Amino acid sequence: MTQVQPIEFLDTRNLKRSSNRSTGKDKVSTNKLEKRLLRETGKAIADYQMIEEGDRVMVCMSGGKDSYGMLDLLLKLRDRAPIRFDVIAVNLDQKQPGFPENVLPDYLRSLDVPFHIEEQDTYSIVKRLIPEGKTTCSLCSRLRRGVLYRVASELGATKIALGHHRDDILGTFFLNLFFAARLKAMPPKLVSDDGRHTVIRPLAYVKESDLQTYADIREFPIIPCNLCGSQENLKRKEISQMLRQWERQSPQRVWNTFKALAHVVPSHLMDANLFDFKSLKPDGNTFEDGDTAFDEPEIELPDSVLTAFSEDD
Ligand code: SF4
Repeated sequence: MTQVQPIEFLDTRNLKRSSNRSTGKDKVSTNKLEKRLLRETGKAIADYQMIEEGDRVMVCMSGGKDSYGMLDLLLKLRDRAPIRFDVIAVNLDQKQPGFPENVLPDYLRSLDVPFHIEEQDTYSIVKRLIPEGKTTCSLCSRLRRGVLYRVASELGATKIALGHHRDDILGTFFLNLFFAARLKAMPPKLVSDDGRHTVIRPLAYVKESDLQTYADIREFPIIPCNLCGSQENLKRKEISQMLRQWERQSPQRVWNTFKALAHVVPSHLMDANLFDFKSLKPDGNTFEDGDTAFDEPEIELPDSVLTAFSEDD
């Protein structure tokens, strides 16, 4: 298998402007946004070796902004990457009342993308098994996962791509931290529960607000996510509000928390399963950072500088 090389995954020199609606200044910022999204997606794919030569990537489409953005970016990367991989879009029609069943097929046909619509009435099963007023998402997601794994096998997909982004990863991290007493987030790449599939999250480095802006610009035909009538989990809602507030007040804090997920120091935490504290003894070697409890923080930059640097190129 050919390994994906970080700097080769995307050749930004050939990027075209995506929106034919915008003009002048708008075009420049649209172009910048698209470049940033492609760069972040390409980097996440390369950092975690999500896609390899010959892969058939099943892109899970819910009809939300994230899945449309993921498909759009993966198709652009497919055309520019130095490795060959295929993309097949899959939507699970869960038979929720009012689901507009032609929207996704029409859109995917217009892109000339291979796709498959799987019809499975998980909605009725969930409604039958979960008492009125109780949250339905956990069973619903479990059923959906099972169907998607089966479909991936039937379609010969070697990777299953989900549209979770940076803020989903951070949200899950804080949910686990605050409510489950665990340092655990949402991995960019994992093996499926049935042990047979590789699940990838190519948008792992992408901010939700960028995906929202991109969806608005590209006018994706969004399918509303409240058709099932389920209320958003209150704890998750609380965390989302906290992150949105941080993002407004101190975006550096959000990025630092996110970066910390990839810079773990087991010897300075307390999990004896990760670090062998019991047999720890002096061996005469010196360690400059051995007893440094708090690393020097990076200089806190004002928002204006942060914005200027995040809009690079
Ligand atoms: S919001 Fe509705 S469709 Fe989505 S996981 Fe929850 S129950 Fe399922």
